[in-house]
Amino acid sequence: MMGWKLVTNKKSPLTYMTEIPSEFDSPTYRDVLSQFDAAAEWFCLDPNIRKRLRLPQRALCVTMPIRMDNGDVHVFQGFRGQHDTSLGPTKGGIRYHPDVNLGEVAALAMNMTWKCSLAGLPYGGAKGGIRCNPKNMSRRELQRLTRRYTAEIFPLIGPDHDIPAPDVGTDEHVMAWIMDTYSQQRGYAVPGVVTGKPICIGGSLGREEATGRGVVYVALEAMKHLGIKIDGTTAVVQGFGNVGSISARFLSEAGIKVIGVSDSTCGIYNSNGLNIPDVIAYKKAKHTLDGFPDGEIITNEELLELECTVVIPAALSGQIKEDNAHRLKCRMVVEGANNPTTKEGDGILKDRGIYVIPDILANSGGVIVSYFEWVQDLQKYFWKEKEINEKLHDIIITAFNRVLRFSLSENIDMRMASMAIAIRRLADAHLARGLYP
Ligand code: NAD
Repeated sequence: MMGWKLVTNKKSPLTYMTEIPSEFDSPTYRDVLSQFDAAAEWFCLDPNIRKRLRLPQRALCVTMPIRMDNGDVHVFQGFRGQHDTSLGPTKGGIRYHPDVNLGEVAALAMNMTWKCSLAGLPYGGAKGGIRCNPKNMSRRELQRLTRRYTAEIFPLIGPDHDIPAPDVGTDEHVMAWIMDTYSQQRGYAVPGVVTGKPICIGGSLGREEATGRGVVYVALEAMKHLGIKIDGTTAVVQGFGNVGSISARFLSEAGIKVIGVSDSTCGIYNSNGLNIPDVIAYKKAKHTLDGFPDGEIITNEELLELECTVVIPAALSGQIKEDNAHRLKCRMVVEGANNPTTKEGDGILKDRGIYVIPDILANSGGVIVSYFEWVQDLQKYFWKEKEINEKLHDIIITAFNRVLRFSLSENIDMRMASMAIAIRRLADAHLARGLYP
């Protein structure tokens, strides 16, 4: 079916290949690598390609002295990792969070490679980040930090090289500052250097909602496959930022009762269903869910364990793990966040028959519409929102059905099927291009 010979029962000689260089060793790198290794093992990926794809192609560490508003100078650490450039420029978000580290960035860059490949986009994966707490910084401090970070990673980025986008803790303003700093260096406006920027400087209609919209398109398609009717269906969403709040909004617009949502402060629960537009307005006004009047306060742990049809983790990595996976009481998990399920957690969900739509498929709406934004910037010709949403639906549902068919024909889960399809495209590209020099 996929145009390559599948060897599923041959014993691989590569089981020894488990080392992780200490620079990248981190829980997220281990999880992402274990998914890759499992898929590579399963279809006996060429050992040389496997060795190459286990590591990022490039990783840059930078330090940035920034004058804070109180006059002190604080030196921040930042990173940018590019995993693979065989299909085109690299693409991936920039994260501002206190836990950012090189291993996480390298892992998330690898994850982006699989995501772009699975959606058929002409990109490899990248990721970047700064170890900082944006919640404790003023807008002026964030702007200075972003501009200095852009100057430091300048040699790596560009519309033909590597195209950043928003991720946890960053937004369209951060993208605008990156675009401006890069353009000032070049001497002319270069909108194609980032995606997820404001519409007025070359952003795309539909980009802000794209990841959440894609998550819900995929969730609805999976429900159709599992024979789950929308009537009476309930959902729980962890994380109420871009992906979480927009997923919750589209779920409720589709007629699904969203009974619980959470952010980093707490969770809120209402068995009759939360009024999502009210929750969004409350969060926008108060910057927290705490105190929302029409819901009971619960912890993030309790939220994931609520009885419901679908759980959407849309916050950080490693939220569904060995400690709690056996307590989830849902039919499906649709991974809005990147890498929200650990290897151990995934095994438990599988054993319990919980249907998991993996991140590289479920949250690919963001990078798909980022691709549209980049194409529009390069063409200098902008599309209508309806056209963008239709094209997004077409690409993500085509990918979903391809993965579904493959998972059914090979009797493997959706994660393994997604990984196998994605890695295979990469492997074909590497084999076709050959080894340089
Ligand atoms: P965001 O910063 O807009 O929102 C993150 C949310 O998670 C916030 O509501 C925050 O309060 C919450 N959160 C943080 N720690 C938490 C915790 N321990 N428990 C519960 N909630 C917590 O970020 P985002 O852009 O919505 O990204 C969320 C996830 O989706 C990340 O894993 C990101 O990599 C992934 N993702 C984002 C996009 C995108 O287009 N933004 C695309 C694909 C994947």
